[in-house]
Amino acid sequence: MAAIIMPAEAQEPVEAPDVTMRACAICEHGGTSARALAYAKVGRQLVECANCGFTYAPKAREAVHMQAAGNGRMRLSDLLLCFLDRVTYWRRFMFSPLEPYELLNKLGPDSGNVVDVGCHRDNLRLISPRFSIYGLAGFPALAAHARAEGARTGATVLSTTAAEGLSRFPDRSLAGVVLYSHLERDADARSVVALLGRKLRFDGVAVLKLANYGSLNRLVMGKRWYKFNFPDYLNYFRKRDISALAACFGLEVSFPLMLSLPTDDNFIAILKPIIPIEIY
Ligand SMILES: [Zn+2]
Repeated sequence: MAAIIMPAEAQEPVEAPDVTMRACAICEHGGTSARALAYAKVGRQLVECANCGFTYAPKAREAVHMQAAGNGRMRLSDLLLCFLDRVTYWRRFMFSPLEPYELLNKLGPDSGNVVDVGCHRDNLRLISPRFSIYGLAGFPALAAHARAEGARTGATVLSTTAAEGLSRFPDRSLAGVVLYSHLERDADARSVVALLGRKLRFDGVAVLKLANYGSLNRLVMGKRWYKFNFPDYLNYFRKRDISALAACFGLEVSFPLMLSLPTDDNFIAILKPIIPIEIY
């Protein structure tokens, strides 16, 4: 098995003001021509790519004004929508019985290196011990908790961003990667998917859980959709967006039917490398 280059301890990220406009993560179209969305009223600027329609925050870091919508007062229609959203909360769990780690355990190869990006909840404990498990935790405070979990399970935790951590693995060395609600938050999402295309083995699999920007609930709730979770979220994927992004880097995508329904506020995407024809 190829050796992993252990990273230096990461420093706490410095939240400096961001003056650069992000390009579209899907097609790299420049941010200056993107169309501003009314969802900016919820407190943060969002734009829709003029070329491919992907929705994202054009600045990775900016001041968030949570009272921007209606000066903090909700209209009766907004209150009704929020009420309906809450009393039908059960629907968020109705069609998602399988967690990403379970899909990895089920679909991944027999052994090899697996990376859990973000060390979500109990993933380090629940990913199958048949794998060599690495956790990537971008913030030292998070890494401390993950390391404690790793000490119990044998997982290795690296204090690093997703792109930096994945880049330290040799090409075609990863049996699996889990990204649980991560890509929405990553200003460098395009680089992360590019690395999945390079680092996954041809029999490897990446399991992504993403907020479903194409969900019916988002259409109904509009700017009150609970996934407009500022300042955390930077990218809002539809299935077509993650498919287009994966295709840029030699990955094919599948969406398990019952885990990617339009009634669900999240969806699962399974990414696998497209095996070059010359290998057959
Ligand atoms: Zn685009």
